[in-house]
Amino acid sequence: AAPRFHPLARSFSALHADNNQGGYDDHYDVIVVGGGHAGCEAAAAAARTGAKTALITQRLDTVGELSCNPSIGGIGKGHLVREVDALGGLIGTVADDAGIHYRVLNRRKGPAVRGPRAQMDRDWYKESMQQRLVSGEYPNLTCLQGSVQDLLLDESKTSSSLESLAPMMSSGDNNKNGLLGKSSENEDNLRKLATIAVEDRKARIRGVQIETEDGSTRDVISRTVIITTGTFLRGVLLMGHDRYSGGRHLRDSEQVEPPSVGLAKTLARFQFPLGRLKTGTPPRLDGSTIDWDICPKQPSEIPASPFSHILQFRGEQPPRMAANQIITCAQTATNDQTHELVMKYEDTLPHYDGMDGAGNGPRYCPSIYKKVQRFPERNSHNCFLEPEGFESNIVYPNGMSGPFPPEIQLKIMRSMKGLGAVEIVRPGYDVEYDFVNPQSLTHTLETKAIAGLYLAGQICGTTGYEEAAAQGIVAGANAGQVAKAAAQGEGPPLPFIIGRDEGYIGVLIDDLVTRGTSEPYRMFTSRAEYRISLRADNADLRLTRKGMNAGLVHDEERIVAMEARESLIEDRVQKLRHFDMKVIDWAERGGAVFGGDQVERKKGQKKTAEEVLAMPHTTLDRVEDIMIEVQKEQKAEQEARAKGKDASEVVEDDFFFKKEEPVEVMDPSPVSVYDTVEASVKYQVFVRRQHRDMESWRRAQGSRIPPDIVYSTETLPTLKKEEIEKLNRVRPSTFAEASQISGVTPQSLVYVYHYVKRRN
Ligand code: FAD
Repeated sequence: AAPRFHPLARSFSALHADNNQGGYDDHYDVIVVGGGHAGCEAAAAAARTGAKTALITQRLDTVGELSCNPSIGGIGKGHLVREVDALGGLIGTVADDAGIHYRVLNRRKGPAVRGPRAQMDRDWYKESMQQRLVSGEYPNLTCLQGSVQDLLLDESKTSSSLESLAPMMSSGDNNKNGLLGKSSENEDNLRKLATIAVEDRKARIRGVQIETEDGSTRDVISRTVIITTGTFLRGVLLMGHDRYSGGRHLRDSEQVEPPSVGLAKTLARFQFPLGRLKTGTPPRLDGSTIDWDICPKQPSEIPASPFSHILQFRGEQPPRMAANQIITCAQTATNDQTHELVMKYEDTLPHYDGMDGAGNGPRYCPSIYKKVQRFPERNSHNCFLEPEGFESNIVYPNGMSGPFPPEIQLKIMRSMKGLGAVEIVRPGYDVEYDFVNPQSLTHTLETKAIAGLYLAGQICGTTGYEEAAAQGIVAGANAGQVAKAAAQGEGPPLPFIIGRDEGYIGVLIDDLVTRGTSEPYRMFTSRAEYRISLRADNADLRLTRKGMNAGLVHDEERIVAMEARESLIEDRVQKLRHFDMKVIDWAERGGAVFGGDQVERKKGQKKTAEEVLAMPHTTLDRVEDIMIEVQKEQKAEQEARAKGKDASEVVEDDFFFKKEEPVEVMDPSPVSVYDTVEASVKYQVFVRRQHRDMESWRRAQGSRIPPDIVYSTETLPTLKKEEIEKLNRVRPSTFAEASQISGVTPQSLVYVYHYVKRRN
């Protein structure tokens, strides 16, 4: 069947038809290979730095395709989206253009671990991404259709774009200098992180060789190249015992996008450490065959919390939400019958190349088979039924990937409540692909072997749109800056590196390049040791200025919004800091801090509003309400005095007062700063402690771990199963060695460190 493209996707291709018919320029500053989430973000970032950029991808109509789940954000991932947005990136704005169902996950937990998430209309997502890339915002970006077959290399040159900046270091170990986790604000650190192992470089990139639509090949020259080929590197699709080459299925047809084989061979020739990973997508269901009435509903939050800082600052709702284009999701679950079917048909599952035929899939997004096998004690797993669009009848059963033969997938689906008569529109499948061990990259995502060549996205061993976008923006910023500086005959720029203490993007890249990964890596808040300060609500305050310095943020409104928020927050915190309260009878005023005998004991004590807010169970809302009430009373008292009345006739407040300044009744904090003010006051003590702990931990990294230590849930109950498994496998002899193990968080190592100290 002919592919059904979205009308806008067609016009997008048409827009570039000229280029495809021989319109390639002689040379570019940056070529981005691939139009997925890493590629779009990399191309836009490179273009924003001013570099002449080309995005070359196999099919222009699939630019911005959500290959798997129709959602963006979530715990950890939502933080990444807001950080990319704070740097002027696309994913947040595009997600808001297409968002039709919003929820903040972990809303009842602390602000540090809340994860904004939204369901997308797939067509609207792709349409918005394509429109934005061809909009006037990126005049120096060209999108071209073609398949990159090979890299053009100058093998006589071994110099790095950055080598003159720092003494060369011979080790491939990215943490050899103990830089792991240190703030990237230190220029020396930045330069070291970007130059480690440059002497290993075997070549410099010169461009790419592409195969165009008419089957001919041509060379396109570029100073830098970013490869973002996702699941396409020697991709193999699997369903039951069927195996066929491909990067992924095209959404609206039976067609398969071809794998990238030539590139894989070139990377192998340069001895890039390649591994094999897999991931899977569930079947898509016909929504008209689902019994929605018997499935519990999952409505959207209204109002929604947008991803975009600009929308949030304007106090606007995402456009589809404002237009009431909102969907409701539903929930069902597996049961004993489902699990019986899954186990009964286990030998119809594919055999993979990786891990002795078992395949290395995403640990935290497992297939239904893995879930049943791993948790035999559980007789049910949730399955969320998520419509793929506002007007679409196709439903994504989240949590149900499993590449059984199609007829078995149908049996499994039909065993669940509400799905007794369901029809499958497209069966689910797995994809197995090559990835490059990211330890072969520096913190700028430039490869150590080939100067000017960068990698970003799933090719580096991650999974997820957000992780891909986060790497894309870093690779795009660095490649763009380096190429532009070279084009202008300038010296190498300061590398664009985000520290672990500055953002989740920094945690992601540092984890990848220092520890590598043996399974698809996804972001969690637990991976960030500085998570109390790395919140979704303050991503702009942490990163927008850094983005401005790197040439990534030009948008006047974004800069104004960040600066305005910064001063509103400071102003609000100052007000809290200088407002004295007598902390008695809080309960009477509606706060829940003191009660019963505590009221008696604390009588007469004073605290600032900031100190009161820092206590458990207080909210900014309540503290400010009380401040406003008190101010009103004081104002009334002043006015009464001015009129010559006795103040006691007017006000009887014993408990609160504001000294010195004339009373001026304030408004409550605007919505756009509320969360940040509350969190920064509530967390300030913890933030200080967190930085102290990490500093002393860093100094202690050389200490030895006793060889007889027992890693188990009994001895170290807060460690995750994954961490116990890996620590037992590696048995590190020092903490420095332990910090190299992928999947073991710095926070957990601090915990092990204290355990060892106690034991000694
Ligand atoms: P992609 O989005 O895959 O984009 C790659 C781009 O490169 C495409 O545009 C492609 O056309 C282009 N390309 C490839 N080779 C060439 C070439 N030689 N020349 C030119 N262009 C080329 N994520 C999850 O978080 N959870 C999941 O469970 C999950 N399951 C998935 C299941 C399947 C079957 C697939 C295909 C993906 C799944 N994903 C999942 C992954 C998610 O889609 C990716 O993490 C994300 O899209 C990666 O973004 P990327 O930019 O690295 O690559």
